[in-house]
Amino acid sequence: MEKNLRLIPKMDDFLEDPDIFCFKSELSGKTVVRVLREEIENLRGLIKSGGFLGDKSAAFEYVKRNAVLLLEKKKTDRLKRVINATGIIIHTNLGRAPLSGEIMKKVSEAVTGYNNLEYSFTDGKRRGRMFYLEELLRDITSAEAALVVNNNAAAIFLVLNTLCKNKEVIISRGEIVEIGDSFRISEIIKESGCIIKEAGTTNKTRPGDYENLITEYTSAFLKVHQSNFKIIGFTGEASSLELVELKSKYPGNDMVVIEDMGSGILSDLSAYGLKKERTAEDALNDGVDIVTFSGDKILGGPQAGIIIGKKKYVDLMKKNQMYRCLRIDKMCLAALEAALCLYRGGDALKIPVIRSIAEAKALIYEKANKLNAMLNGVGVDCRVGPHTALLGGGALPGETIDSFAVFVAIKGKSAREIDIYLRHQTIPIISTIQNEEIILDMRTVDEGDFEYLRNTLAELCK
Ligand SMILES: *Cc1c(COP(=O)(O)O)cnc(C)c1O
Repeated sequence: MEKNLRLIPKMDDFLEDPDIFCFKSELSGKTVVRVLREEIENLRGLIKSGGFLGDKSAAFEYVKRNAVLLLEKKKTDRLKRVINATGIIIHTNLGRAPLSGEIMKKVSEAVTGYNNLEYSFTDGKRRGRMFYLEELLRDITSAEAALVVNNNAAAIFLVLNTLCKNKEVIISRGEIVEIGDSFRISEIIKESGCIIKEAGTTNKTRPGDYENLITEYTSAFLKVHQSNFKIIGFTGEASSLELVELKSKYPGNDMVVIEDMGSGILSDLSAYGLKKERTAEDALNDGVDIVTFSGDKILGGPQAGIIIGKKKYVDLMKKNQMYRCLRIDKMCLAALEAALCLYRGGDALKIPVIRSIAEAKALIYEKANKLNAMLNGVGVDCRVGPHTALLGGGALPGETIDSFAVFVAIKGKSAREIDIYLRHQTIPIISTIQNEEIILDMRTVDEGDFEYLRNTLAELCK
């Protein structure tokens, strides 16, 4: 055993090796040493457990080979663009809403140099960073006031922590949802310092269920959009409008109605062939006091949590010390401003998410046929067929959109094999598999990527 450990190479043996040395300029000597040390330790473990059978030079090669692989990966593994061929428009694992070049140009212009993030040109003094953003949100939604924080979860936290701390919040049992990755609305309510009161049942909650729970400590009714699941069958919920009416029966309680809409829908989607969905403005018109939603779901902007509603409540949130912990940075602010400017100007179709939703079926069919011909040309066994695209998790769960896909097969390769191959490209291609065929849904793929798709699949047909 002791003797075996003498097989372990020394750090210095590697540092002059040209295959290792070459990583120093890009990754620094410190990183290279760290990787080598880990790999030497791995070898030590392997030898101790009797799992290494080679000689001294094999031990050297073993460490070197693994270190080179890791260093190679370090050079390329980072957040990068992927081609989303899943047909899921808002894909939480794929970065939710893509931002357009036009929006990113505005961001770049604003942050490359200094800017007026907290500066007023009028008097040359400090001014809050929400100034223009609040005006934009008010113009678009007719809200009295607005505030933007890091994300929608932070928005819910700030709203409850400001308006309902140490008081009771009533929420329907059908709306105590997990928003993803084991984060739950119920826990956010508790962490914000509120006492949760559960009304009704999973599938049915009536206004009376809320009313039964009202006490002198009740501070709010919280409505949460069921954005990542759907209950069907024997169901019922109290609408925000009904909760506003219920609230008005108890004027002495000073309660608020809060609605977490999940997705921020700012314009009428029925103009694009979708079912008419409730917009943020609709919620305010129902008399909801505070509405929150995400910036990077259907709105199509950067990650953000948008709070709109009555000024007297929003003003309190602006003064909450917690707001400082949750505020957005200048890049997010610039991107959101650029996206909202498009909404205000009636140019929502320039927002990639809205464009994907709105793209006509006939155009998608045309796109699918074009890619199909290109792939056929390089020997891929493919066909065009109808497919169902989705708005996506956290958005409108039941909402599907007709689409077309190119269904791909390659002789001698399983669908799983192709799928893995596609995922490991320089620009990874994310597809789905159905019945041993790879599906490339054309609603979320840009024609500009067709050539890359063809070349990548051609390589696999060789
Ligand atoms: C997505 C979602 C959230 C969380 O929003 P983030 O912006 O991801 O923090 C909260 N509530 C609902 C209903 C959602 O759909």
